[in-house]
Amino acid sequence: MTDTETHDGEATRDFIRDAIRADLAAGRHKTVATRFPPEPNGYLHIGHAKSICLNFGIAKEFGGRCHLRFDDTNPAKEEQEYIDAIQKDVHWLGFDWGEHLYYASDYFEQLYEWAERLIQDGKAYVDDLSADEIREHRGTLTEPGRESPFRNRSPEQSLDLFRRMRAGEFPDGARVLRAKIDMASGNINFRDPVLYRILHATHPRTGDAWCLYPTYDFAHGQSDAIEGITHSLCTLEFEDHRPLYDWFIENLPVPSRPRQYEFSRLNITHTVLSKRRLVQLVREKHVRGWDDPRMPTLTGYRRRGVPPAAIRDFISRLAITKSDGIVEIAMLDHCVRELLNTTAERRMAVLRPLKVVIENYPEGQTEQLEAANHPGNPDAGTRMVPFGREIYIERDDFMEDPPKKFFRLAPGREVRLRFAYFLTCREAIKDSAGNIVELRCTYDPATKGGNAPDGRKVKATIHWVAAEGSAPAEVRLYDHLFARPDPGAGGDYLQDINPDSLEVLTDCRIEPSLRDIAPGQAVQFERLGYFCADPDGAAAKPVFNRTIGLRDTWAKVAAKG
Ligand code: ATP
Ligand code: MG
Repeated sequence: MTDTETHDGEATRDFIRDAIRADLAAGRHKTVATRFPPEPNGYLHIGHAKSICLNFGIAKEFGGRCHLRFDDTNPAKEEQEYIDAIQKDVHWLGFDWGEHLYYASDYFEQLYEWAERLIQDGKAYVDDLSADEIREHRGTLTEPGRESPFRNRSPEQSLDLFRRMRAGEFPDGARVLRAKIDMASGNINFRDPVLYRILHATHPRTGDAWCLYPTYDFAHGQSDAIEGITHSLCTLEFEDHRPLYDWFIENLPVPSRPRQYEFSRLNITHTVLSKRRLVQLVREKHVRGWDDPRMPTLTGYRRRGVPPAAIRDFISRLAITKSDGIVEIAMLDHCVRELLNTTAERRMAVLRPLKVVIENYPEGQTEQLEAANHPGNPDAGTRMVPFGREIYIERDDFMEDPPKKFFRLAPGREVRLRFAYFLTCREAIKDSAGNIVELRCTYDPATKGGNAPDGRKVKATIHWVAAEGSAPAEVRLYDHLFARPDPGAGGDYLQDINPDSLEVLTDCRIEPSLRDIAPGQAVQFERLGYFCADPDGAAAKPVFNRTIGLRDTWAKVAAKG
């Protein structure tokens, strides 16, 4: 798994940065220009984050610039919503293109001119074959392709047809413009690739000005050249396109000569990172939207409470290599936990409340107890939490008949209430069906703050909220969106959706200060994990998302038996 090697904090090294250093040292370039070129046909996912961190990171490290360029060449699938979302997400991730925001559509006129030039030079022709026929003529990896019967039509005739294509004389799919290279090439991309197709569609930026659009291959390298990109970084599936990229650069009067480098895509277990699939998950409502906290999209992570710095940290641990691998999602989880552990303030919330009546606590009395906001950081200060005769604890912090290694509350057992007192369970009250509905307990007033003057110890500290003063809340617990690490490996990936990926708890109780938490701000619910407020919440009933759990030592012990 070459993709999971961690870097060691020294100046980042990989084959791309090494090549850039060599180019600069040899004077081949004075400055470095990279670009991130998303197609606005979906929201950005964490795979894109790898490309963003690489391109913007390199520009920063080498004092160069990084462009954001929308590869908006297919209006059938592209939308303004995606253009806006992509910009927001790149900024959120912590990168800025400054004045270097571009669109491939800015170059449509120039690209068209260059296409005419290729026709005039006898290096491109209009083909009347259908898409299916072109495919049939293409050949295979072992068989050469066959030439189109229109391949040798004169440049004059092709030019005339191409201009009429632009003028809108022909319906979608009637004709295409193809480069005239080599139908017998071992590289299928060289077998007269399509440069333009007719598409009568309204473009988010150019409207109805065009009814023919350049292909990715024809637009990409030339856009790089127009912008003076020095190092054009893309994923490995474009390696076989590089000779074509270079062919255009060599055969057209472009203003600069960028060079393409390919690196491994990011793949993560328990999720999918293909936009086609992510679009399907959204359209077919397998998730609540692009920003569903279970989605591997940047907007999903944001809503879930994952800080952008944790994503950058995760990406920085990935090796930039030439071999694809799959990264464990646990590695991302680890980065999130590690960061939130230092940054997130602590609060108390009870997800599955069990009522506790403290029999020796005076009726009608309440008090405010001081609670530290962060155990490792006194500068985070303290807050007051109310305490009273009735409190709630977590249902699973009590067992009537505890097994050997369960140290939390049980009949006759004494535990510590975090920031409060020692509490002893006297009795479990049950309903007629035998369910425990309430605990009767006593507390020791001398243990205020959590220590006993007589030095006696307890084996567990549990969290709680007071019945009076706490607020109701909904809490959404997330698990992997896919049940198996390699969704789709056994057939249809939709079949692998984890039916338990979302659990909604509607009867939670939170301490009062949690009502003021702004959406997106991360907090740790003591002993439970990291959470953030969701914009769905109203003042009357806040909603929290679990970003990530804490490692549950009890679950491990229980699993071992
Ligand atoms: P998808 O296959 O999900 O549709 P794409 O590559 O078509 O992705 P683009 O919008 O064209 O999506 O991607 C913009 C840039 O992000 C490209 O340079 C692409 O190589 C890079 N990129 C996309 N997915 C990944 C990934 N999983 N890992 C690393 N880089 C990626
Ligand atoms: Mg693409």
